[in-house]
Amino acid sequence: MSDAFLVLKSGRCAWGKCLFCGYGRIQGETPSLEGFREKIDDFFKSLGSGVDHVKVYGSGSFLDEEQVSKASREYFIEKCLAEGIDKITVESRPGFISREKIKEFQGLGLEVAVGLEIASDEILDKISKGFHLSDFEKAASLLHEEEASLRTYLLVNLPFIKNLEESLEESVNYAMRYSDSIVLINLLPHGHTPLFRMWLSGVWRFLSREDFHKLAGRYESHPRIELDAETFRFVPIFPKELRENLSGVGERYLTHPHFEVWQDYILRWYRPPLGKKILLFLPCSHRKPYSRSRTHRGIIGILRDYREIHEVMLSNAGVVPREFENYYPFNSYDWDESRETGEIKARYTEVTGERIKRYLQAHGGHYRRVLCFLGYESESFKALRKACNGLGMECRNLLSKEREGKRVLQSEEALEDLRRGVENEAGKV
Ligand code: SF4
Repeated sequence: MSDAFLVLKSGRCAWGKCLFCGYGRIQGETPSLEGFREKIDDFFKSLGSGVDHVKVYGSGSFLDEEQVSKASREYFIEKCLAEGIDKITVESRPGFISREKIKEFQGLGLEVAVGLEIASDEILDKISKGFHLSDFEKAASLLHEEEASLRTYLLVNLPFIKNLEESLEESVNYAMRYSDSIVLINLLPHGHTPLFRMWLSGVWRFLSREDFHKLAGRYESHPRIELDAETFRFVPIFPKELRENLSGVGERYLTHPHFEVWQDYILRWYRPPLGKKILLFLPCSHRKPYSRSRTHRGIIGILRDYREIHEVMLSNAGVVPREFENYYPFNSYDWDESRETGEIKARYTEVTGERIKRYLQAHGGHYRRVLCFLGYESESFKALRKACNGLGMECRNLLSKEREGKRVLQSEEALEDLRRGVENEAGKV
């Protein structure tokens, strides 16, 4: 027997103000009863055999009739009964849980999942949760009186907490008293939320998978607790209203918070693609995304046949894996080298050298070889050399030493160096 997941995008969370939640701010279309029936029918048609538990996920509350009407809910229950489903899990805020609604699920094992997040009224207020522990306790009693069960979500690493370990222990102990099961969730920042802004301003940081497990790992083997380190595919997506013009030269364009949070993400969350065992550092380009520039078109033309090569650009925006070149801010900044002063060049080398060093410390173990294709006079090459020397790592520049000039990497001779270099290196791994 197995579980099936129904993702329901219907209406909008009636609250929509929790500090960390991007889903609650999404306005989904509320389907008509007909539309809802169609969706439910399609869902059941797509189910394989042996499913006995349907888990419904959506943003907001399944039990809020503005999101899922009474008639739609009744149709869903009927359908579950007819299809031989034993158990359903739906999500709801405590305020929408009522005895009448729970009774409608008779014949099915009902589990209601509630995002309690933390066992502290003070923090619940600070994160704008819109309810208190007493509301949660009332909902828990009601569910248990009607023989339904309660699944409680707790967020690990909320802001405003002085001691994460103590707070987690208190919340788990509290939730355990009222819940049949608990999920400990690693809090990650959604773009359209105040929490994302807190990350930008440096007052809050997400936990890496490793840090999450260090903190919550002791609950891993508990029979009523589950750990969820990665609730969604986390990539920093900047909402339009936060985006800035990042064209310029100077400290602001080197250590801007939008670049810094991305470097944080690349170091502590990102993982280089499997199979890409050769790291090749490349320059950035004036044209964005980089792959549209003449220099990169030449490079990509040669690398096309070498799938094991991971292209990573060096720029004032940071260390940028090719996969992210189309994301803001990497697709919309510019650094005009002709405006560089000696001082800012030195700063660029210092900051970039440190970023490369950290990247290699975080991900160096993933690669078998570290290479570059950079002008010998470029600040990026100097920064890379400094970082590798500091780490005692070897990094071979595939460009021949005698090549010089402003657009040196576009020349046929340079591209021939690259072709020969990668052919030779790829054969070794
Ligand atoms: S966490 Fe839940 S209640 Fe809060 S805004 Fe998001 S969907 Fe709504």
